[in-house]
Amino acid sequence: MIDFHCHIDLFKDPIPILDEAEKKGVYLLAVTTTPKAWTGTKRLIGDRRRVRVALGLHPELVRERHTEIALFEHFLAETDYVGEVGLDGSPHLSDSFELQTKILRRILLACSKAGGRIISLHSRRAASKVLDLLEAEPAAGTPILHWFSGSARELERAAQLGCWFSIGPLMTGSAKGRKLVEMMPRERVLTETDSPFAQINGAPLSPWDVDLAYPVLSELWNCSDEQVDKQVLSNLRNLTGVKGTARGV
Ligand code: MN
Repeated sequence: MIDFHCHIDLFKDPIPILDEAEKKGVYLLAVTTTPKAWTGTKRLIGDRRRVRVALGLHPELVRERHTEIALFEHFLAETDYVGEVGLDGSPHLSDSFELQTKILRRILLACSKAGGRIISLHSRRAASKVLDLLEAEPAAGTPILHWFSGSARELERAAQLGCWFSIGPLMTGSAKGRKLVEMMPRERVLTETDSPFAQINGAPLSPWDVDLAYPVLSELWNCSDEQVDKQVLSNLRNLTGVKGTARGV
């Protein structure tokens, strides 16, 4: 199983979750929300084999944290993975949208200069703008649109631009989400929880709960749950192979 977008550093008690995920053989991308969280999250993860840490600057925090962009650029050489970054076009963040755009542009430029990164992107109510910025910086690396909620047309454009997608149980739980998942090229789909933000019945999902999305995926892909698991694992291998790094999963 793969949880390719998990805020493990924001769990109240992350160690038992990490231990259990390791026992279950779950591959995990530990995304962060500010560059200041980088060092602590690296320390939290230690040398766990199936976990990678991503360097992030979350669009919802850009208003308060934009000065940490220098720190982002400083740490970028230490990782192949970037996230969570992106844009959020929600009305309550409209005053920071221009600043978010400026920061994301700078992040993508830094990734490009560094030779490309695997980037987990937030694009709520801003999919077209995120795609514009990705299109303008084609050497930034491989973008993974996490919990994509744009239009069918935007999804089509994203796929044409070479984007990947990470999807979770809450996304496959809605009719709109299922419709979008159906349109995604299945060789570019990974699973995620976005936990602890993603909750069911008031409890955050655990990384291994990604398999709650399998019944929907097996129906859309016309295969068994085991084949869904194989497909996403093979996708992950291809993704990290594309990057051509010895540090890949
Ligand atoms: Mn997230």
